[in-house]
Amino acid sequence: MAHQPDALRRLPSVDEVMHASAAIVAADRFGRPAAVAAVRQALDATRAELRVGRGNGIAADDVAASALAHLDRDAQPNVRPVFNLTGTVLHTNLGRAVLAEAAVEAAVTAMHQAIALEFDLDTGRRGERDGLVRSLLCELTGAEDATIVNNNAAAVLIVLNTLAKGREAIVSRGELIEIGGAFRMPDIMARAGAKLVEVGTTNRTHTKDYVEAFGEKTGLVLKVHTSNYRIKGFTAEVAARDLAGLARERGVPLVNDLGSGTLVDLARFGLAHEPTVAEAVAEGADLVTFSGDKLLGGPQAGFIVGRKDLIAKINRNPMKRALRVDKVRLAAIEATLRLYRDPDRLAARLPTIAMLARPRADIAAQAQRLCPALATALGPAFVVAVEDCTSQIGSGALPLESVPSAGLAVRPAKGRKGALAALAAALRGLPTPVVARIEEGALVLDLRCLDDEAAFAANLSGLAGAADALA
Ligand SMILES: *Cc1c(COP(=O)(O)O)cnc(C)c1O
Repeated sequence: MAHQPDALRRLPSVDEVMHASAAIVAADRFGRPAAVAAVRQALDATRAELRVGRGNGIAADDVAASALAHLDRDAQPNVRPVFNLTGTVLHTNLGRAVLAEAAVEAAVTAMHQAIALEFDLDTGRRGERDGLVRSLLCELTGAEDATIVNNNAAAVLIVLNTLAKGREAIVSRGELIEIGGAFRMPDIMARAGAKLVEVGTTNRTHTKDYVEAFGEKTGLVLKVHTSNYRIKGFTAEVAARDLAGLARERGVPLVNDLGSGTLVDLARFGLAHEPTVAEAVAEGADLVTFSGDKLLGGPQAGFIVGRKDLIAKINRNPMKRALRVDKVRLAAIEATLRLYRDPDRLAARLPTIAMLARPRADIAAQAQRLCPALATALGPAFVVAVEDCTSQIGSGALPLESVPSAGLAVRPAKGRKGALAALAAALRGLPTPVVARIEEGALVLDLRCLDDEAAFAANLSGLAGAADALA
């Protein structure tokens, strides 16, 4: 403290610091204005520290080094890749589907170049952007027509607004879902200007409930896939096929919101059967809505397929312009959809399906290979073991379905409280953050979604030293 005024006086000027080698590097890397600003900040910080009796390095080199370190940290993109070892394949908070190589290539091309987005190359006249994928969607779903919006929430919104604004929409009480991120069916109805008419009860809804609800003001009947829950026990629902008959008799469209909606029977990949879009169309729904980045494995998008006259109405809704997708996503969507023409090779080409179809034994073998590396990185404070675990599909697809998987379970050697949470935080702090889950006294790294094994192992070196502090 005694030398503090002295130290403050000896603090170098901005100009002096700018001559230090780290500052020259900073100016070269980030531009002179940013480097000067960072140096000023570093000087301010040093001054503040000296005033409270701290601050060790006050030489120009020290200040410049701290300015450069700050700029380097700040230059890290906020959108960062992570290792998703949560066991949830379609993790909404981790960006849902990982795109296929073909989709990535198509998106990159569309970013680099002008594309015929709304331009008919035959006639030289204006074309339609949805036209780029309409026939593929029709081919894969058996629907008459198709349109695309920003996501499935938008698809539901625009369908309700187009067909039921100022009118009534009939929905079973067992299907009034809330899915993550404040998407609640009753709220969407209200925003779309449709009046919700609830029928039946939470666990049981019968044909007569729908029949009694039909009236002059009925705009549509909505069936909603109860994506993220199941009602079990004493239950009854009216099948889509029967509902389609009822709706048709009264000249009212039936809309089936499938949520995840898959284009192939997942049973061929060893998973439970999830209703396909083609099935929903064949069952007689007039419109079917589903997501692009759930089971379909593409970019975020919302698809609406079904009757031509209804799709035309939706396309005339001014909301369509506000909810449209851009050229980059359209390119990725087209490339993803094309993969479905060859279902036999889907598991090799589409990461979502590849991850879901990955056999447990394959994952366990990978866990065996990586176990020593993790044990070494963590040191004696933790015990690492290869264990069975269960993955989930995620994003509301087959919520009760658990997929047998394997991974690495980490437990503190001494059972110290808080050690697992601290370890989870340390893993999230790695150069490529690792996101795992804590389960029954262990930190579980489900390896189902781990593709680049070498990168994962190399990344672990970032734990050196941290592990002892955690124990
Ligand atoms: C996920 C889901 C939505 C919303 O889809 P997003 O693509 O996330 O906007 C709507 N309805 C159901 C039934 C869903 O499962």
